[in-house]
Amino acid sequence: MTADITVYWDDRMLDHEPPRGAFKFPDTPIVATPEVHPDRRERVENVRAMIDHAFGDVTETVSPARASRTALERVHDPDYLDWLEAFCADGGGRIEDTTTGMNEHTYDAARVSAGAAIAAAGHALDAPSSESGPESPLPYALCRPSGHHAQPDRADGFCFLNNAALAAEAALADDGPADVAADRVAIVDWDVHHGNGTQEAFVDREDVLFVSAHNDHGSWHPEYHPQEGSIDEVGTGDGEGYTVNVPLPPGTGNRGYEAVFDRIVEPVVAEFDPDLLLVSAGQDAGPADMNGRNIATRSGFREMGARARRLADGTADGALALIQEGGYQPSHLSFATLGVFEGVLDRTVELEGYGTDDPFTFLDEPTDLVDEWIDEAVARHREYWPVE
Ligand SMILES: [Zn+2]
Repeated sequence: MTADITVYWDDRMLDHEPPRGAFKFPDTPIVATPEVHPDRRERVENVRAMIDHAFGDVTETVSPARASRTALERVHDPDYLDWLEAFCADGGGRIEDTTTGMNEHTYDAARVSAGAAIAAAGHALDAPSSESGPESPLPYALCRPSGHHAQPDRADGFCFLNNAALAAEAALADDGPADVAADRVAIVDWDVHHGNGTQEAFVDREDVLFVSAHNDHGSWHPEYHPQEGSIDEVGTGDGEGYTVNVPLPPGTGNRGYEAVFDRIVEPVVAEFDPDLLLVSAGQDAGPADMNGRNIATRSGFREMGARARRLADGTADGALALIQEGGYQPSHLSFATLGVFEGVLDRTVELEGYGTDDPFTFLDEPTDLVDEWIDEAVARHREYWPVE
C-alpha cells in the first residue's frame, strides 16, 4: 500500500476521561444525571471511523512513543509536570472550579498525545508530504487530550501538555525527531478558541510564528487563563510581531475563514518563510459545536485544508503536519475533519446519503460584521507584516 496519510494514534489516548458534570462545568443538584464531559472519547473514535471509511485504503497508523521528560521540559515547567503526574497518580479530578479535569490515565494519555505531535513534526521535516509525492504521506497527529490551551506552567481548557508547542520545540531541537532541525516554525491555529497556551510558550520568540483565528471569547479565568487573544497581544521583546491574533465575531463562517487566509494567514506565513508548518487543527468552528459560536462547514474546512497544503508547499517545501485540537459535536467533527483531509489531499469523498455536503449547514454568516473585524486585525498587524 502506498499511504497518503500517516495517522499517529494509540488507543491509550482513549483512557483519558474528564469528570462528568453539568455539561463541562462542575456537578450541581439541578442536573439530575451528570453529563459526559464534552472531551468525550467519541470525538476521536468518530475521526478514526471517518478516516477508515473515506481514506482507509491510503492510510497507515503509527503508534507514537510517549514524549520523554526531556521533550516535555522544552515547553513545560518541571514543577508543573511533577504536579500533573502526582495529581493523576492520585486518581485525578477537576482542577478547582475550572472546566478541566482528569483521571488516573490522563498523564500517560497526554504524553502519548504529545508524542504523536512530536512524531508528526519529525515526519513532516524528514519526509515532506508534497515534495516527495505519494511515498511521503501527510502526517496527522490525532491527539487526545488536545494541547493548545496548556500553558508552560498549567493545565487549561481541557489541555495538559501543549502538543503543538512541544512539536515545534522538538522540530527546532538539534536532538529532536528530525534528521535536520528546523530554524523557523509557523503554527497556524484555526481552532475556534484562542491558542493561548501556544501563544504563551512562544510570546517572546522570533523563531516561532503563531497565527490564531478564533472567537473573541477573551479570558475565561483570571488566574488560569489571563490571555485575551486580542489583536494587541502581538508578542513581547524579540517576539514582538510574531504573535498574530485574529479574533472573529460570532457567526463567522466559510467566507470569513477564507478571507482570514487571504488577507492575513497567507501573506504573514509567506513573509515569515518557515521550515515547517504546523496546523493546530481544531474543527470546533462548526454551527452545532457547543463550545463555539461560529458556523464553518465541511466545505469551509475543505478550503482551509487546501490553503494549508498550498501554504506549506509554497513556504516550507511541503513540510506540513496536522495536529488535532478541539471539536466537540461528535458527528460534526467527522464531517469537518473529512473536509480538512479532502482539502489537504485535493480530493472529494462522496458519502452515501450526504454526497459532498454537510448536514449542519443551516446558518447565514454576518459577512459585513466579519469583514469589519478582519479589517481591524489587518490594520493592527500591518505594523509588522505585509497585509492589506
Ligand atoms: Zn477549541
